[in-house]
Amino acid sequence: MDCIFCKIVAKQIPATVVHEDAHTLAFMDIGQVNPGHVLVAVKKHAENLYGLDDTQAAELFKAAARVARAVRGAFNPEGLSVYQANGKAAGQTVFHFHLHLVPRYEGDGMNLTWPVKNPPREKLVEYAEKIKAKLA
Ligand code: AMP
Ligand code: ZN
Repeated sequence: MDCIFCKIVAKQIPATVVHEDAHTLAFMDIGQVNPGHVLVAVKKHAENLYGLDDTQAAELFKAAARVARAVRGAFNPEGLSVYQANGKAAGQTVFHFHLHLVPRYEGDGMNLTWPVKNPPREKLVEYAEKIKAKLA
C-alpha cells in the first residue's frame, strides 16, 4: 500500500483526527490554509470522485456537513469553502478521495480564478445533452 491517506486510515502514520466513523475519517490538513482547515476522506481507498460508491458518497457528504458545522462553531469564520480536486490538472496531489473544508475570511489570499465564458444558451443545452447521454 503506497497511499499516504490509506496509511493514515490504517493508523500507520499519525494524523490529527477530528471525526471517525465506519466510512470516513476527518483530520487536520497539514498545510492549514487557514486555522481549522480539515480534510474529510473516505476510509476505503478510492482515487477520486469517480471511484466512490453510493454509500461512500452519501456518508462522506454527511460527515462533511457535520464537521463543517463544528468548524463553524469552533472558529466562527466569515465563510467556508469546500474544495475537492480530481486529477492533476485540477490540482489533486493526494490520489485518495478527500474534500477540504477551509474556513474563509475576506482578503485571506485563497484564490481560485473563475474564467467564465458565458456561452449562449444553445451551448448550455448542447453540453447538458452530452452529459445526460452518459448518465448511468
Ligand atoms: P489535494 O490533493 O490538492 O486536495 O491536496 C492534498 C492535501 O493533503 C494538501 O492540502 C496537503 O496539505 C494535505 N496533506 C498531505 N499529506 C498530509 C498528511 N500527512 N496529513 C495531513 N494532510 C496532508
Ligand atoms: Zn488510499
